[in-house]
Amino acid sequence: MDINLISDTVTKPTPGMLNAMMSAEVGDDVFKEDPSVNALEQKVAEMFGREAALFFPSGSMTNQTAIKLHTNPGDQLICDKYAHVYNYEGGGASFNSGVSCKLVDGHRGMMTAEQVEAAINPPDFYHSPFTSLVCIENTTNKGGGAGWDFEELKRIKAVCEKHNLGYHLDGARLWNALVAKGETPKQYGELFDTISVCLSKGLGCPIGSVLVGSAEMIDKALRIRKILGGGMRQVGYLAAAGTYALDNHIERLAEDHEKAIEIGDLLKKLPFIKKVEPIETNIIIFEIDESLYDSDEFVQNLNEKGVRLIGMGQGKLRIVTHLDYTDTMHEAFLEILEEM
Ligand SMILES: *Cc1c(COP(=O)(O)O)cnc(C)c1O
Repeated sequence: MDINLISDTVTKPTPGMLNAMMSAEVGDDVFKEDPSVNALEQKVAEMFGREAALFFPSGSMTNQTAIKLHTNPGDQLICDKYAHVYNYEGGGASFNSGVSCKLVDGHRGMMTAEQVEAAINPPDFYHSPFTSLVCIENTTNKGGGAGWDFEELKRIKAVCEKHNLGYHLDGARLWNALVAKGETPKQYGELFDTISVCLSKGLGCPIGSVLVGSAEMIDKALRIRKILGGGMRQVGYLAAAGTYALDNHIERLAEDHEKAIEIGDLLKKLPFIKKVEPIETNIIIFEIDESLYDSDEFVQNLNEKGVRLIGMGQGKLRIVTHLDYTDTMHEAFLEILEEM
């Protein structure tokens, strides 16, 4: 049995999804003539209560487009030190938009409104970069799948309004947050100027992200996506997978969350585990007491038993539950862990 827990991106399309893909009607999306893409974009825009949405090949391109929309070269954006836009998009913020990042030392990838306000450079002090954007991530990836307190997001929104800053949400795993907290997409649509959501993480699509915002923003985003090389042609086959996932794979995320908690509970009982970070969604980050068990050896031993997970650096390890992590695999994995 191959139990792959390195990420929720390792899933393969289900038979139902494949069927939806194979029977999709397609056209040339660069001419906006792909009915399946148009339907997906309209669906996502409606879910968030916004005017428009745009389909992208990746979450990185969606975020990079949003950063470009909200900034001018030389500007600075504010984000947590754990942010994906800063750590994992290949330096795209500086490469694509010519902006720097002011990093906030938050908690598990989440900042407070006070921290955000303190990070803003005075706009008339022309020696400093001009602050123009705040980027939020929910759930936080490097923060171990933690979900924001919605009240804090509202307080940060007030800071953005007061200082005339753009407000972007990297919602690659927003679906997990919505399911875990019983929140709605519309709540988020009301708060943020732009939101990016991934279809290729917990929702199990082979590819795809969507950017949501006002008609004016999305109109501009269309040009930026083209510049970044993200104009796609008969891509309805992939959009159809997205529509299928939105209809069938959101509520079931709760199962991934339950499994994650069960894994975490068991890890806590193992003598060589030093710390398990609180588990809110489908990500488990934990640390090994290296004096009792070398973490590389632990990963290696699990590997030999058919279980794959990855290190996050600094002795931290990560497990991510997902659509293709079945009940049978879960039982087998818990047994393997117990025997270690
Ligand atoms: C995965 C992810 C993205 C997008 O990644 P791609 O691999 O480019 O699709 C963006 N933000 C977060 C928090 C992510 O976890």
